[in-house]
Amino acid sequence: MAIRKIITPENPVLRQKARKVKDFQDPKLQILMNDMVETLLDAPGVGLAAPQVAVSDRVIVVRLPDDEQARDEYGKDAGVLYVVANPEIIRKSVDMVDGVEACLSIPGYYGTVERHVAVSVRGIDPEGNPIRIKARNWLARVFQHEIDHLDGILFIDHAKQIWTVEATEYDNLVEEAENNLWTPDTNVLINVDSPDVQVDFGD
Ligand SMILES: [Zn+2]
Repeated sequence: MAIRKIITPENPVLRQKARKVKDFQDPKLQILMNDMVETLLDAPGVGLAAPQVAVSDRVIVVRLPDDEQARDEYGKDAGVLYVVANPEIIRKSVDMVDGVEACLSIPGYYGTVERHVAVSVRGIDPEGNPIRIKARNWLARVFQHEIDHLDGILFIDHAKQIWTVEATEYDNLVEEAENNLWTPDTNVLINVDSPDVQVDFGD
């Protein structure tokens, strides 16, 4: 297993529509999946899509944290590792919810994104067997974010607000934002409705 480099939007692979996985016997696929898990855990992150490691295949890995707080909040979803090829959302709740998102490919940027509260995902596991996952709340959000990556869509494309913040302040601000106690400072906000504004991704 190896940790792979996570690409940023300068690399056009991030914007491509990824190919469906067809050959589950291909040893390269198993290596990719193993490397994606290692890369996700190392980052650390809660989700990673193959285009983020510059491979245009429809593969995602998802894992919510499994510390004590996560187990309280997410119950049985905490710490479960999902490795899914060709994931598709086959059902989604009518109910939508705003939440704060970040992305390993867009370091330093955060955004408020409206997502379905619950989704059912169909896909193929690493052994080539069909699987279905019913996801709610944060887990559902992560699946929607990762599946977007497979179509070249980034959270900044449909965020209501985007802002930057020091990583050390992030956890507190997310909690406050989710409880509507805090809204991003206007001077760090990037108005996503304005076509004139270009998000600066640094180097
Ligand atoms: Zn992402």
